[in-house]
Amino acid sequence: MSKNPTRRDLLAAAATSSLVAHAAATAKPALLGGKPVRSTPFPSWPMVEDNDERQWMDVLKSKRWNRVGGSYVLQFEKMWAEQLGAKHCLATANGTTSLFLSLNALGIGPGDEVIVPPYTFVATVNAVLLQHALPVFVDTDPETFQIDARKIEAAITPRTRCILPVHLGGSVADMDTILAIGKKHKIPVVEDACQSPLAEWRGKKVSTIGDLGCFSFQASKNLNAGEGGAVLTNDSELYKLCMSFHNNGRGDIGNGLQYVRNGCNLRMTEFQGALLLSQWKRVEEQARTREQNAAYLTKMLKEIPGIHPARMYEGCTRNAYHLYMLRYDAKQFGLPRKRFLEAMKAEGIPSDGGYTPLNKEPFLKYTLDSRAYRAIYSSAQIAECLERNHCPVNDQLCTEAVWFYQTMLLGSRADMEQIVEAVRKIHGSASALAA
Ligand SMILES: *Cc1c(COP(=O)(O)O)cnc(C)c1O
Repeated sequence: MSKNPTRRDLLAAAATSSLVAHAAATAKPALLGGKPVRSTPFPSWPMVEDNDERQWMDVLKSKRWNRVGGSYVLQFEKMWAEQLGAKHCLATANGTTSLFLSLNALGIGPGDEVIVPPYTFVATVNAVLLQHALPVFVDTDPETFQIDARKIEAAITPRTRCILPVHLGGSVADMDTILAIGKKHKIPVVEDACQSPLAEWRGKKVSTIGDLGCFSFQASKNLNAGEGGAVLTNDSELYKLCMSFHNNGRGDIGNGLQYVRNGCNLRMTEFQGALLLSQWKRVEEQARTREQNAAYLTKMLKEIPGIHPARMYEGCTRNAYHLYMLRYDAKQFGLPRKRFLEAMKAEGIPSDGGYTPLNKEPFLKYTLDSRAYRAIYSSAQIAECLERNHCPVNDQLCTEAVWFYQTMLLGSRADMEQIVEAVRKIHGSASALAA
């Protein structure tokens, strides 16, 4: 089918998928000895093309492996800022350091509170702990998997110094509400856009909406260089602070041994810069493929009892689909989630149950009980921090989530039909599988 299907195409597809649905519902699941729906793997990741190899070899042979004296990281920064519509982009060693740098530039440190979601990769929270600030968890909106912006204001105290929403899975957090709260309370907003390159809120690219925005180019991400990251901002002062801190406190790249402050080495290598530049050429097209496949998948999946694909907020005008997320209602579907995931795997469709609640991680308690934290906060403050970090909606969501990965969305429409066929087949045999 073409990229812009006609009504006839759609009717034909609907007829095929209802036939597929019927066949799927009656076939024997692979877990019980039937034939798997799929025997070929989904597209592998990362993708490597000739221009990646050329650029990589160019860096190698040039012997300019460090950004000081090189040109690839600089070119990447210019390109990425322009693509996203930001004034400044600073490339970093990885996504964690881009978050850490942003909080550092805002002067967030001991005694401060930072509002974070509990449904995210651990790095979001680790960035807060690196600054010896306190993470304050705000519960998740189960329909969207994003931080529940309606609950942020209740979590604000006189010590709140930053709101750190995550655009989870490629979708976008409710930025209208978050920006309004930030403005009202004069609290800066840092966007964790690590999973959402090219995602948009009301036509604006994420990472350019808050005070600072952060990306990761780690191996699993939609744009990847093995490791890597970036900070985006329209604020020249904040950019300068990030630049100098990430370059051992030198004022600028090429400043020799002159220091304007303390700092760290969080620089990106030329190898990373070269890979990002060469891959960039494919990112827009891949994003479009994921969007089209995801829309097709959602249309079919939402017809199945117990399968509830994540909703997007009305302001989310583009989803980068780092993950395809859905809520699996085991009662409605008629099978425990663990068994469902096993059955999907047997059908040749990889999936995952997603994150565990970060706010309940034992390591948080150990960290807050460490000598450094004890030196900064009173026992009452630490107890209070642990006490109020309850997120019951998120606890529930973590038992219901099912993820498919971004690479699965890079295939054909037939691949999407196979995912649906597997789900339907398992649903059709739920009671046999549950026994
Ligand atoms: C990947 C990721 C990070 C951290 O990135 P690294 O490059 O692995 O350090 C931070 N936040 C989120 C939401 C991520 O998915």
